[in-house]
Amino acid sequence: MKAVGKDLNDIVKAMKYYIELEKESGQEEYFFKRPIKNTGRSDEPSVGLEDLKKEVLNCRRCDLALTRRNVVFGSGSEKAALMFVGEAPGEEEDIQALPFVGRAGQLLTKIIEAMGMKRQDVYIANILKCRPPNNRMPLPTEILACEENVRRQVELIKPKVICTLGKFASQTLLKTQVPISSLRGKFQYYNGIKVMPTFHPAYLLRNPQDKKLVWEDMKKVLKELKQ
Ligand code: URA
Repeated sequence: MKAVGKDLNDIVKAMKYYIELEKESGQEEYFFKRPIKNTGRSDEPSVGLEDLKKEVLNCRRCDLALTRRNVVFGSGSEKAALMFVGEAPGEEEDIQALPFVGRAGQLLTKIIEAMGMKRQDVYIANILKCRPPNNRMPLPTEILACEENVRRQVELIKPKVICTLGKFASQTLLKTQVPISSLRGKFQYYNGIKVMPTFHPAYLLRNPQDKKLVWEDMKKVLKELKQ
């Protein structure tokens, strides 16, 4: 009971802080009009990936800040030619503060290695930086609040190819409602960068017969990286 009391206290404190933030900025402004640093204008200070990470680690733009253990910013090489973007951290990622370290992550690591690379050679991030409780689907408001972070990661890393893993990442970056089964395997563009949508590794764990389709997509990515 004592532990529950302490948890409740923490939640109440976090909520008070959140409400203060919302009072200061007004909810609309908080979600949709927060000033963005480093939009490429020459009069703005340049911000690196580490600065962005510091900023995101303190993010309280949505309610996931109340339930997360850790912010999962992303990991890998800042100079990566290939960037993977997934949906949101799961439990293991929330604990370790690293993306794709659970079962789906182990499969992603195998895919990267089958491509002749190591995890450290690529950059791995998610659309949402915080775990939705019980791994529920991301809410539109959460995607809206967090999307700017992945956009800025892409801007700073400037990968040659982005591989979006699953429906959420693909539909969010490509601004479409087209199902992943139709999107996958065909290059599209996100802010001038080639995007290859493919199935999410968690889907492949449930549907191993579709691994060959993902491998077809990865061969197209490899060909593009070599050009
Ligand atoms: N699924 C995701 O989309 N991202 C992770 O980091 C882990 C599982």
